[in-house]
Amino acid sequence: MTAVRHLDPTDLDAVRRAVGLNDPSSPLGGIGIRRIVIGPDALDELPQLVGGVRQPGSIALVVDDTPMRRGPDDLKALVAACLAAVDPDIGINVVRLRAGHGGLHADAAAIAEVVAGAAGAGCVVALGSGTICDIAKEASRAIGAPFVVVQTANSVNAFSDDMAVLLINGVKRTMPSRWPDVLVIDLTVLADAPAALNRAGVGELAAMFTAPADWRLAEAFGMDPSWDRRVVDLFRNGATALLDAAPGATSDNVVAQRTLAELMTLSGLALGIAGKTSPISGTEHTVSHLLDMAAAGSGRPAGLHGAQVGVAALAVAVAWERLLATFDPRVLLSARPPAPAAMHERIVAAFRALDPSGAMAEECWSEYRQKLDHWNAARAGLPAVVERWPEIRADLASLLGRPAAIAGALRSAGASATFAEIDPAVARGDAEWALFNGHLIRNRFMLADLAWFAGEWTADAAAAAIDEAAAVALAAARPVSGAAS
Ligand SMILES: [Zn+2]
Repeated sequence: MTAVRHLDPTDLDAVRRAVGLNDPSSPLGGIGIRRIVIGPDALDELPQLVGGVRQPGSIALVVDDTPMRRGPDDLKALVAACLAAVDPDIGINVVRLRAGHGGLHADAAAIAEVVAGAAGAGCVVALGSGTICDIAKEASRAIGAPFVVVQTANSVNAFSDDMAVLLINGVKRTMPSRWPDVLVIDLTVLADAPAALNRAGVGELAAMFTAPADWRLAEAFGMDPSWDRRVVDLFRNGATALLDAAPGATSDNVVAQRTLAELMTLSGLALGIAGKTSPISGTEHTVSHLLDMAAAGSGRPAGLHGAQVGVAALAVAVAWERLLATFDPRVLLSARPPAPAAMHERIVAAFRALDPSGAMAEECWSEYRQKLDHWNAARAGLPAVVERWPEIRADLASLLGRPAAIAGALRSAGASATFAEIDPAVARGDAEWALFNGHLIRNRFMLADLAWFAGEWTADAAAAAIDEAAAVALAAARPVSGAAS
């Protein structure tokens, strides 16, 4: 693992230089955030920051009904008071979203509620989770108002990108959205966030040990030319820092909180710059999405996104290690690509129990069939891949994290390291189903696709990876006392 110092994301010019955004020929998108402020008392700067970007009109503060504290203070009242200090002549319009049955979702109804509640606002401020952030992001875009995010937990990378995870017709989709103008990360707020959220954030960051390899793999096999090592390095260079900071994820250790917040922010920036989630969303994220779908399908609450992603990353890292140990790409030269009808049948079978109507399977098939077509076209390049395999393999290995290191990071943060430890516990059968079938939901080439086309991805292989990951998690050291409060 490289011990390169990670970038400070508050220095946006340095981030731009690191990925070559100053090069006019760069195919990458820009960074639309004007300011990122990270510090133990970053909230003190909120009035000035909002004053610098707002347009005429009131200020809309978007919150949910979850109690939040900063030390002895009620966080929502504190932020409202900060905003009132921007201009004594304007009103603060608090838009409070209430979680309905099954929790709060970033759906059309919630966005419309904020659009209506924030009418006439010259600035929209989001104070809450990734879901609140995504709803307010879309609402501010709809009304054309500047957008300020006050991050309340270090749980997901939604705060620093220009995408929103929206619920559209019951299916979670990552859609292009807008950048925040300003991101405020008060480390005292993060330290006081619910421990489960901050632990889940370490799981979300653990995707840095698996997702970049999927993106690189797709490029190597001619399935996605957008791979860019510099974008990955934005956060992957912080891998050692993540391992060092993980024990402080739920503490008031300012150094650890800052490190984790910086890495989370960098990972969000990387997604926005790449214009896609590939840099830090690969096979491990498909597992989490399938677990969400399984929970929703049976009316159960799902676990936290990051908690699921972290556990999945460990299992996926094991699966990668097993594949790379023996994989010979020459097998692909003689392997016949699966017939579309056979793949359609596999997808129907995988999702039938969850959705007997077949609509879910057809939604997945509409994405997967494109991947299959692409693979058939890309097979012409296989001889060249075979020739370059030692180099590709070394590159993949350098991007992957060792399973023991991933388990150590999760354990030291007090985060879930096995599917059974996720709250609520994921049944063994669901975990196997999600790992085996995750690659069927996306038009994006990943580990499981390669192994499937080579005839090496089976339900048994997925089960074996989960077993080995559980053994690695068991062997990982338990948290040092005080590291996980
Ligand atoms: Zn994620």
